[in-house]
Amino acid sequence: MQLANPELLRTDSFIAGQWQSADSRFSVINPATEQVIAQVAEADVDAAISAAVAAQHEFANSTASERAAFLLRWHQLVLANLTDLAQILTAEAGKPLQEAQAEIRYAASFIEWFAAEALRVTGDVLANSVKGQRLLNLKQPVGVVAAITPWNFPAAMVTRKLAPAFAAGCAVVLKPSELTPLTALALAYLADQAGIPKGVLNVVTSTDAAAVGQALTGHPQIAKVTFTGSTAVGKLLMRQCADTVKRLSLELGGNAPAIVFADADLAVAVQAVMASKFRNAGQTCVCVNRILVEESIAAEFSALLQKAIRQLVTGPGVTPSVQIGPLINAAAVTKVSQLVNDAVAAGASLSYQAELALELGYFYPPTLLENVTSAMRISQQEIFGPVATIQLFSTAEEALQLANDSQSGLAAYLFTKDTQRIWHFSEQLQVGMLGINGSAISQAHIPFGGIKSSGIGREGSSYGIEEYLQLKHLCWAN
Ligand code: ADP
Repeated sequence: MQLANPELLRTDSFIAGQWQSADSRFSVINPATEQVIAQVAEADVDAAISAAVAAQHEFANSTASERAAFLLRWHQLVLANLTDLAQILTAEAGKPLQEAQAEIRYAASFIEWFAAEALRVTGDVLANSVKGQRLLNLKQPVGVVAAITPWNFPAAMVTRKLAPAFAAGCAVVLKPSELTPLTALALAYLADQAGIPKGVLNVVTSTDAAAVGQALTGHPQIAKVTFTGSTAVGKLLMRQCADTVKRLSLELGGNAPAIVFADADLAVAVQAVMASKFRNAGQTCVCVNRILVEESIAAEFSALLQKAIRQLVTGPGVTPSVQIGPLINAAAVTKVSQLVNDAVAAGASLSYQAELALELGYFYPPTLLENVTSAMRISQQEIFGPVATIQLFSTAEEALQLANDSQSGLAAYLFTKDTQRIWHFSEQLQVGMLGINGSAISQAHIPFGGIKSSGIGREGSSYGIEEYLQLKHLCWAN
């Protein structure tokens, strides 16, 4: 990595405004080369919690303008260091550089959005029913926040949590994924440069996720846990938070269907499905996971999709032409292979699989499976790999039933020109987000989140800051 600003590559944890070294360290691996990029310190989670607790009172009493000004400075620094941040991100997460740069811009957009939202937090004055009584609602920061983030968006998932927390006046203990801690540490370095008060941001880098999780969820002075990751860990954290009744936001797994009707513009549908299915090599929670296609256009749609998949270039993310990088680790490759093998054993047809000539790295070839059914494991869980699966339907009711036949309810995509059908599906699909004749549903000003087992709460948008605020009612007698 040739960074313009080598200071961005931090390998110590960040606690109470200090970089904390440790004897015990863990390796961060580049998934494209299998080489060790850095040895990162195992952090002291208790020290991080104490620092956040100590900083909370003063930070909650800072003005909204002060917090907004800090966020704007941080936003500017993130953009000014975009090229370096993207290199760090590609090195540890594998995604193509262009996608990494897009992620840094996306990550920065949350900081900008919540800088403005900080200034718009309001309360209410209510009408009274008793003479002389004044009824008011205040909004106050919830208190210290624990944020636990995944590896697939090492920058955006961090800022989507930290920016609203800071805007609201909450100090944070952040535990980034142990697979991608370097991007989070670089963002913390820039937050420090932007003048964040000591202790307001603490980054706990650790491979002992379970112990860190226990410490964060069990601590009485942590008021809220915000988590993005697997459904299994989300459920565990929810149980662990019960004893101290914490506020909780969960953004968990998805199993997004893309429903393609015969009247859709097929070129648009294929382009949108490709963009969503193969983003980050298929490793996003809103990735198309099941492509449901109306029978009458099955042959035409599959041919178009296969043609597009054949054009994908797979390789290390630093190579400029590459669109599909490696998966995050060897276990991910094994998991995706098993899902594909199980589906083929159960009767799915392997219409296409790219041939890769890469000696190192955790790559999985872009693949197209047809004749997939909902009984197959590949339809029931997140694939998290560059594998497109096609399942057929013959009526709109069947499509709706198939789409909703999942414990997950994060995103869905609908392709049709029939406005009645768009409205019907908009009302009936059990998801938090719906792409209609398109698949780009990730922006700072939309409410991102799911229903059913996909989670609780929304991130981004004007709703996002509410997750970090609590209401206090004042009943003033006279
Ligand atoms: P993924 O399958 O996307 O890696 P995980 O849920 O395992 O999802 O990881 C998301 C984040 O949750 C990571 O930061 C990881 O270290 C953390 N994590 C994993 N297990 C636990 C746990 N028991 N308690 C708290 N955090 C955990």
